[in-house]
This record gives sequence, structure tokens and C-alpha cells, in this order.
Amino acid sequence: QKQIQLAKRPIGTPSMEDFAFIEAPIGTPSDGEVLIRTVYISVDPYLRGRMQDVKSYIPPFRLNEVITSGIIGQVVESKSEQFAKGDVIIGTLGWQEYSIANEKEIRKIDATLAPVTANLSIIGMTGLTAYFGLLDIGQPKEGETVVVSGAAGAVGSTVGQIAKIKGARVVGIAGTEEKCRYLLDELGFDAVINYKQEDVSSALEKACPNGIDIYFDNVGGSISDAVFPLLNKFARIPVCGAISSYNKVEMDMGPRVQTALIKTSALMKGFTLGDYSSRFKEGGTALATWLNEGKLKYEETITEGFDHIIDAFLDLFKGANLGKQLVKVADI
Ligand code: NDP
Repeated sequence: QKQIQLAKRPIGTPSMEDFAFIEAPIGTPSDGEVLIRTVYISVDPYLRGRMQDVKSYIPPFRLNEVITSGIIGQVVESKSEQFAKGDVIIGTLGWQEYSIANEKEIRKIDATLAPVTANLSIIGMTGLTAYFGLLDIGQPKEGETVVVSGAAGAVGSTVGQIAKIKGARVVGIAGTEEKCRYLLDELGFDAVINYKQEDVSSALEKACPNGIDIYFDNVGGSISDAVFPLLNKFARIPVCGAISSYNKVEMDMGPRVQTALIKTSALMKGFTLGDYSSRFKEGGTALATWLNEGKLKYEETITEGFDHIIDAFLDLFKGANLGKQLVKVADI
């Protein structure tokens, strides 16, 4: 079977040479284990951080070992009483065509609740990130102005819709006209800014006549710099991601934020989804309910073929994806 390992720690933007496609044995499951055929692979911006040898909330990938991420697969052989052949499962597994997993590492997906891929997006990792970051840290109130960067991505598009559910006015920042139209026409955002075409500072001033109460930050960098001067008193800033810096060899410096925070008594708080692990059930149920009520929509960009996993991962940094980027490597 094919497997993808990290061959080198990327410097700057990763390239194909940083990864190795290896032929590896499939193996056979022991008691309490199952053999899984990989079906969908989630590629995520945070994986870039794991490719560096730095201390973080999650250990770095090791060189010459298989890369892992969120995966949906199907059980082809079971030595576990909890799983049967044919079960569709989700877990953090390797970028390889087959995996052997312990029964404790995976859980069954209920395909009657939502399409299976939704478990990697809207009711899964990215939906939950939007849910907890916005509601716990952002605490949106009716009539407030919420600005979200990376707005047409998996997390950002969910943040904007949840903010609308809570009665806020939502301004999205994204990188193409197609994405901006989608946010306005399909998701009901109140205003959008194409940061590649417009001057973000003046566009924000126009789009936020009453200032900004919540800034949900997915990208950092100069887009975030433009937000700080417009913060309202007691603004909240869930710091979710900083994708504009993930491939930077040297960190760039923007305006310093302290005075903006002091002047407005704003709260800026970083988080990772893991902080909320005890509440995943609550979040998953709320998201699935909104989805089934038609209050939440989602898009997925699905790249086909095991050989294109790296392309799909690199596409995240080029903004090629609308909604959640996934790779399909087999049929269910
Ligand atoms: P997305 O689906 O949003 O994909 C990434 C998007 O980022 C691209 O489509 C692109 O859209 C945008 N982008 C890429 N490069 C830049 C840049 N230099 N400046 C501005 N925008 C850029 O990914 P996710 O929804 O999975 O993740 C969004 C953010 O949330 C990431 O920063 C990620 O690390 C973070 N995250 C954090 C979690 C946590 O627990 N804290 C959990 C999950 C995600 P465009 O065309 O608009 O440029």
C-alpha cells in the first residue's frame, strides 16, 4: 500500500520534496484492533505547524514516519467486538491506504445524521472550532458586529453563520470574488471584503460603521492589523489561527496591539479545540440540529486520489478551497 511520510522539515512553503511516497506493508489486526480502508482524508492548516520541530499543543510529526490527520474509513477486517466489517469510522490515522487501529482510537459514524464527510467538517473538527471559539470566547450578542477572516474556509464560513443565528451583523474577509459572492448570496453575510483586491482598512471602516465587537481571527498578519483600530469597547477576539504566518521563515511585525486592547478593554484569547473536549457532544448536537433545520450550510472541496493529498494540502495556502478541503482516496 501507499503511504506518505514527512521526509524533511519544510523551510517556508512546503514542496513535494519534503514528503516521501513509500510502499509499506498493510499488516494484520490483533485482538482489539481493526483493519481500515482509508476513504476521506482531512488536510488542515494546523498540520503545517506539526511539520516543524517546535514545542506546541500537539507534538511535531517525526521524520520518516507517516503523517496523520482526521480520517474517515471503512472497516475491512475486525478483531474488535465493537466494530464489524463495513462500519464507517472516524479517527486520527495515517496518510496511507489502509490502517490498523485500536478500537479506542476510532469511533463509528452514524451516517443517518448527516453525510459522512460532515464529520470532518461542519459537525466535526472545523465546525466545533467555530462553535466554541465564537460562542465561548466571542459571546456574540444581537446587533453586534462580527468580523471573521478566512471567512470562506471551513471554520470561517461556520463562524459567520453561527454569528447570524445569534443575531449579529457579519462581515467576512476572503480572497476571491467567488468566495465573497458565496458568503453574501448563499450564507447571508451582511458585507464582504476581498482582501486581495481592496484596501482592508478603508473597506472595514465602510463595512463596520458601528465598529467591531468581535473579531474571529483565522489568518493574523496585515488583515488583523487593519481590524484593531476599529475595535469597540469590550470587544472580544478569539484567536483561532494565523495561516498568513504558517509558511513564514521569519515572523513579520505589525502594529502592536496592546494600546488598542487597553483603550477598549478588549479580550484577545487564543484557544485550541482540545480545550473544549469535555463539551464536544454539546457542540456536535447543536451543529447537527442547525444543519438539519437548514440554518447552517457548508461546502466541501474534494480532491480525488491518494497521489493528490499533498497538492490538496498546499492548496490551503493558495486559497484554492471553498469550505472544507478533503481528499477522497476510495469509495465507501
Ligand atoms: P480553511 O478552510 O479556512 O483554508 C485555509 C484558507 O485560508 C484558504 O482557503 C485561504 O482563503 C486562507 N488563506 C491562506 N493563506 C492566507 C493568507 N496568507 N492570508 C489570508 N488568508 C489566507 O482552513 P480551516 O477552516 O481548516 O482553518 C482556518 C484557520 O483556523 C487556520 O488558521 C487554522 O490553523 C485554524 N484552526 C484552528 C483550530 C484551533 O483549534 N485553534 C482548529 C482548526 C483550524 P482565501 O482565499 O480567503 O485567502
